[in-house]
Amino acid sequence: MIILLGEKIVARVKSSGEFNCPVCTSHNGYKRIEERNYFTVLFLPVYPLGVVADYVQCDKCGYSFAPNSQFIAGHFEGIRLVIAYLLLGYGLDAREETAIEIYELVTDQLWPKGELHALVNQISRGLDVISQLQTIAFNLNAQGAWKVVEAAYLMTYACCEIQYRDRLRVNQIGAALGVSLAEINQLVDQLRKNSFRGIRRHVEV
Ligand SMILES: [Zn+2]
Repeated sequence: MIILLGEKIVARVKSSGEFNCPVCTSHNGYKRIEERNYFTVLFLPVYPLGVVADYVQCDKCGYSFAPNSQFIAGHFEGIRLVIAYLLLGYGLDAREETAIEIYELVTDQLWPKGELHALVNQISRGLDVISQLQTIAFNLNAQGAWKVVEAAYLMTYACCEIQYRDRLRVNQIGAALGVSLAEINQLVDQLRKNSFRGIRRHVEV
């Protein structure tokens, strides 16, 4: 007899309420959700291992927020980090406008150039982007994590002909947020079908 053992993440609604959603910019209902890893036997969760995520999720837009009075949108923060990180890696020059264009396209929010510069400065002085993303991931649901990886892929696409090492960097960002390789492949297929949402590749002149 074979006994199948494994692990599985189970999401549970802990409470609900109302808040001013920073994404919808309106007063909506929310659910506070906890994701916990379970030890499974024959695919059935039998023993709780640990909490892997804890966030507030808007009933209307489905995005996730830190469960405190400020309701910070984790994906806004994550997207700013990955765009600034990639901008620094690929060179600042003509790509600043593209960085801001991608942020505004993916989030529908404005991003003043001064804030982008300040973040690039912090990263160039040693801010560890991957460990920051791992921290943010605790207050992020799958929809938010997907948006961060989408922004990372679009920024990479805009900066270069994507080679193996460029794709590895996107995969590393995905891994920090719990997004699997299969999900990243699915995302890239979608972006390709949508002509990379109109983002054009920067051409060296
Ligand atoms: Zn919302």
